Amino acid sequence: MDALVKEFLEKVTLRNPHEPEFLQAVQEVAETIIPYLEENPKYKKAKILDRMVEPERVLMFRVPWLNDRNEVEVNRGFRVQMNSAIGPYKGGLRFHPSVNLSILKFLAFEQVLKNSLTGLPMGGGKGGSDFDPKGKSDGEIMKFCQSFMTELYRHVGADIDVPAGDIGVGSREVGFLFGQYKRIKGEFTGVLTGKGTSWGGSLIRPEATGYGVVYFAEDMLQTRAETLAGKTVVVSGSGNVAQYTVERCLQAGAKVVTLSDSEGFIYDPAGIDAEKLAYVMTLKNEQRGRIREYAEKYGCEFFAGQKPWNIKCDVAFPNATQNELDEEDARTLVGNGCICVAEGANMPSTPEAIHVFTEAKILYAPGKASNAGGVAVSGLEMSQNSLRISWNREEVNSKLREIMKDIHRICVEYGTEADGYINYEKGANIGGFVKVADAMLAQGIV
Ligand code: GLU
Repeated sequence: MDALVKEFLEKVTLRNPHEPEFLQAVQEVAETIIPYLEENPKYKKAKILDRMVEPERVLMFRVPWLNDRNEVEVNRGFRVQMNSAIGPYKGGLRFHPSVNLSILKFLAFEQVLKNSLTGLPMGGGKGGSDFDPKGKSDGEIMKFCQSFMTELYRHVGADIDVPAGDIGVGSREVGFLFGQYKRIKGEFTGVLTGKGTSWGGSLIRPEATGYGVVYFAEDMLQTRAETLAGKTVVVSGSGNVAQYTVERCLQAGAKVVTLSDSEGFIYDPAGIDAEKLAYVMTLKNEQRGRIREYAEKYGCEFFAGQKPWNIKCDVAFPNATQNELDEEDARTLVGNGCICVAEGANMPSTPEAIHVFTEAKILYAPGKASNAGGVAVSGLEMSQNSLRISWNREEVNSKLREIMKDIHRICVEYGTEADGYINYEKGANIGGFVKVADAMLAQGIV
């Protein structure tokens, strides 16, 4: 089996030699899918996995714009249209200086399986730019978004490809992108999700990823007759996903003691309560400040340049970005008694870290399963746009809760090993793969 995986990965590496993040995402999937293909030769014969690692289309374009000093700036824009077997391409846009083709291909590849797991009819895609929103004025953000959409508009549409937010793209950016699309096309359609609620957005979309990852952790804990009540929780990140993770953890009676950003993390042993969370939301979403200001305000410690994984906890939510948790961090977490790791970010744990979690047989959920709540509510936003109606908070939240339960059930179905250990990674990969693979088989060699 190892030889088959090795042979497949060599082929993919040869074709994508300078794409480490993409190859990492493919490897994680190949290791669990290739044994499954051996048991299900119809997928192997039709070369489904070979086709799935090749994007249907990659768009790469110039994004020129004028900064506030009237100087010309040039960024690179991307949209990876990975797979449309089960629905229009769907996935976020990331604006961050690190963005390149490798990162967007890894995200688009994971998105295909994630979207399939939601049970909603969405294919997978991802896009973005190496544009750095940090320190930019609202005017500069708008000019960049308008220039970006002036090229992207010809490749997207409510039934073609529906982008949304990701790192560096929130409601402000979605607004500017939507305005420019509407102006160019002269039509009001659900071409983007994460819109404002007065112009086609869904309630609960801002909360969805954070709530979803906590719901998933609650379902995982339940398999061991545990709950979040009274648990100490460590969260990385301080953006949208982290904020609503804290909110839901508070509702569930847990104590969250950390948050982080690119400069370091804060450790608040007393716990982040509702008032402190409201402060974080204003600080991060409106003032666009730094998390260290929390430590100054509430008199707790700030650890510059460090990640929160050495803080003793029961449950950890890596909610910042890819590869933020390595083997040593994983050993520290396990050594400190952590029993559950649920990823709110995409691919935050390195393959070695995942190995430590599964060896120790703790509860570990990969992002493609546990952070699918965000895109799931994006799918519900698309449905509401098509129906021209809006569901209320309770309706959307209960649909989100059901979807997360269903993803958990699929992971248990495909991931339970002989000794009873639930390998959520294996379950998510196979569960996500089967639906896309069956659609690809039915649609012929396209
Ligand atoms: N960027 C989010 C993700 O990684 C959401 C994508 C969407 O809502 O389309 O799944």
